[in-house]
Amino acid sequence: MIDLRSDTVTRPTQAMYEAMCAAPVGDDVWGDDPTVNAFERAVAEAAGKEDALLFPSGTQSNLVALMAHCGRGDEYIVGQQAHTYGFEGGGAAVLGSIQPQPVENADDGTLPLDKIRAAIKIDDFHFARTRLLALENTIGGKVVSQDYMQQATTLAREHGLATHLDGARLFNAAVATDTPLAALCAPFDSVSLCFSKGLGAPVGSVLAGSTELIARARRWRKVAGGGMRQSGILAAACWHALEHHMAGLADDHRRAETLARGMAELPGVTITSQATNMVFADFPAEHVAPLADWLRENGILIDLLESARLVTHLDISDADIDRVIAVMQAYFNRHG
Ligand SMILES: *Cc1c(COP(=O)(O)O)cnc(C)c1O
Repeated sequence: MIDLRSDTVTRPTQAMYEAMCAAPVGDDVWGDDPTVNAFERAVAEAAGKEDALLFPSGTQSNLVALMAHCGRGDEYIVGQQAHTYGFEGGGAAVLGSIQPQPVENADDGTLPLDKIRAAIKIDDFHFARTRLLALENTIGGKVVSQDYMQQATTLAREHGLATHLDGARLFNAAVATDTPLAALCAPFDSVSLCFSKGLGAPVGSVLAGSTELIARARRWRKVAGGGMRQSGILAAACWHALEHHMAGLADDHRRAETLARGMAELPGVTITSQATNMVFADFPAEHVAPLADWLRENGILIDLLESARLVTHLDISDADIDRVIAVMQAYFNRHG
């Protein structure tokens, strides 16, 4: 199948399996898995932070970061469209006793500075204590400018807030803008990075931050059930992805652009956004169900809605993109 539902659907490569098999392992809860320890050091260095911690998922890494920054009755400012707010089961509130203060995202994914400023509460016992600003990069595939990140985090710090970046796809931003990862992480106290998205590892996210923050996070990770044992097997997959799959993200971005260009030619289809490895498109309502069936019959998986997201990744080739466009064209030739 040509699967464009998400960049999470990739399978490990043979070389990745071999790296996993070859990894020396220990019990990471006891702190003695050499592969995990070395990988965490490598990611901390790449992110320009003092320390780093491996998690099974980005959801847990984000949750634990929020809990390491905020206590019960604290509040974090977050985008209405942010993953931590909208797509993680409300974990900050449910499990962290942290009140989210959502702010409407602008079209470019940023939170307007005046809206952030207005959302920060004064110190009054009527209000939750505003403690953290959480941003996301990329968001909806869009790279947020470093200029904006500097301004937003400076504003946060002026008000005594900590800052967290959900960088699930920060590697895409680094490649798209040819910027070192550490530079993108620099404005933030903590950064969560996913290795199971564009980089193509089966499992694994890393939280990077100060020694003190990561020590607190290690405690919350255990509470959340994220203390893993011979997790060097997973760290080896993530490390292999970091060393061998980073450059390929540029191909994903180019393929998403080609896909968007091809789809823009289809009758009634509107490309609403194309950035990094994502294409967002509107389809005429009457074609959604039959087109989804037609695509599936032709070996193509798309989460097709009136507003659909298509994502390129490691397991999508140039030929796959050509085929998707051709199969869509064939549908519209018959039904358009
Ligand atoms: C996927 C994703 C996460 C969560 O990662 P999981 O490993 O799926 O839990 C967090 N933030 C963003 C922006 C994501 O895309």
